[in-house]
Amino acid sequence: MITKDGFSAKDIFTREKGFAYNDFIILPGYIDFNPEDVVLESNLTRNIRLKSPLVSSPMDTVTEHKMAIGLALQGGIGIIHYNNTVEEQAAEVKKVKRFENGFIMDPMVLSPEHLIHDIDVIKERHGFSGIPITEKGTLNSKLLGIVTNRDTDFESDRMKKLGQVMTRELLTARVGVSLSEANNILKESKKGKLPIVDNEGNLVALMCRNDLVKNREYPMASKDPKKQLMVGAAVSTRPESKDRLSELVKAGVNVLIIDAAQGNSVYQIELIKFIKRMYPDIEVVGGNIVTEEQCENLIKAGVDALRIGMGPGSICTTQTTMSVGRAQATAVYRTAAYSRKFGIPVIADGGISTIGHIAKALALGASTVMMGSMFAGTHEAPGEYFYENGVRLKKYRGMASQEALEAGGSKRYFADDTKIKVAQGVSGSVVDKGSLQDYIPYLLMGLKHSFQDMGTRDISQLHEYLNSGELRFEIRSVSAQAEGHVHDMYSYKEPKYM
Ligand code: GDP
Ligand code: 5GP
Repeated sequence: MITKDGFSAKDIFTREKGFAYNDFIILPGYIDFNPEDVVLESNLTRNIRLKSPLVSSPMDTVTEHKMAIGLALQGGIGIIHYNNTVEEQAAEVKKVKRFENGFIMDPMVLSPEHLIHDIDVIKERHGFSGIPITEKGTLNSKLLGIVTNRDTDFESDRMKKLGQVMTRELLTARVGVSLSEANNILKESKKGKLPIVDNEGNLVALMCRNDLVKNREYPMASKDPKKQLMVGAAVSTRPESKDRLSELVKAGVNVLIIDAAQGNSVYQIELIKFIKRMYPDIEVVGGNIVTEEQCENLIKAGVDALRIGMGPGSICTTQTTMSVGRAQATAVYRTAAYSRKFGIPVIADGGISTIGHIAKALALGASTVMMGSMFAGTHEAPGEYFYENGVRLKKYRGMASQEALEAGGSKRYFADDTKIKVAQGVSGSVVDKGSLQDYIPYLLMGLKHSFQDMGTRDISQLHEYLNSGELRFEIRSVSAQAEGHVHDMYSYKEPKYM
């Protein structure tokens, strides 16, 4: 008989104990390919396929349009939070849908009646001074001229109207111009700005020469058939969601995530059926859930994917306060193994703090991973940086933290109707991680190395090995876990990312 070293996932994750990502390790496979050969494409939902299996949490300190754009450009997807008004959430979705790489879709615009002084104020606040001038002083109004620092440098009278100093001979490009065509026009003209106009001569966007080198193509970008970036949005199971839904759909949302801490409810089941009936083209993700029975109910209701996790989040106190939930590695394995039979992908949500955790979640059957704390410290997350003890930080809070509940984030937790709001999360801060533009490629390359070590070239092969028992696992003792971390060093410097 051929015995295989280690244990199958089924051996380990169908026992009486629940395991977290740190409790186990994956045994190495056989390498006959390079990390660059690994393909990380995966299904977010039944019908949405992504080039990178990364999703950002619908939280007000994680995902607004900048995060969603940054992730979608690199093959992932962002889910816009709903701790805001319907109009605000729909506006965030629209900004992602309207984004075109290299084009500023919402440039600062002034009218001929504004003063040079107004440009000084913009320069001081935003750092740029090249401002298109339109009839009404807004976007989508007739372009009349442009004011750059060459028009205002030597003007001593800062109260002069812009109509008197603006340059009227303009080089423009028509809407629909491609990034490379627009880049060429800018290069050849030696001009600093290229306004983009529609057929009636209304301003619709702006390009800046200084961005030329940054205007790279993103071959991995998550795009819909209209070639717009894909974006998701969260909604609650409360009745107000029905208005929200229609606005989000009008704004062009691709996937709706029903955000509930415990997803196995009559409210959620009804909402899934309602969305599928009213908007059959929109993909719906149900959750959060952690057991097979919960999966069964939501799959029957018609979900296109499931979001797994109850209590593993870095900011979360659910398991302590409510005593309900499940250890995340076990939850991911059990739900993924069950949902696989119905062709429903699962999203492992929460508790991921290293590249290794992403690899483990995928190795347990998740098709994508959702992360909050991993992304909250990046430039693209909402909020400003601040310093504490000399460390540059950004705020990160649970959507059921006392602070977020007071700001309206209680919809997820059925707490709206009660006077006493019970918190299920904390608020705090995370360390600056720099831009997603550097961070995501690092995460993806790290993941590719992990796949190489496991001996699997892509996520579907990984899932085949998982389910055939070829992928082998082992539980780590407490000292094995300590051994697997840095130890016995007097001092050391952690890498920028883990
Ligand atoms: P300017 O010549 O003073 O306008 O500034 P530069 O062209 O040197 O740099 C402007 C930078 O700000 C570029 O990287 C732009 O992409 C960025 N930017 C962002 N929003 C706007 C905007 O509304 N107007 C302008 N002019 N630039 C913007
Ligand atoms: P992280 O990636 O930081 O470990 O976890 C993020 C996930 O935690 C979110 O996607 C969401 O599912 C969950 N979450 C967000 N806010 C709260 C909260 O206040 N309480 C609980 N229990 N979970 C939260």
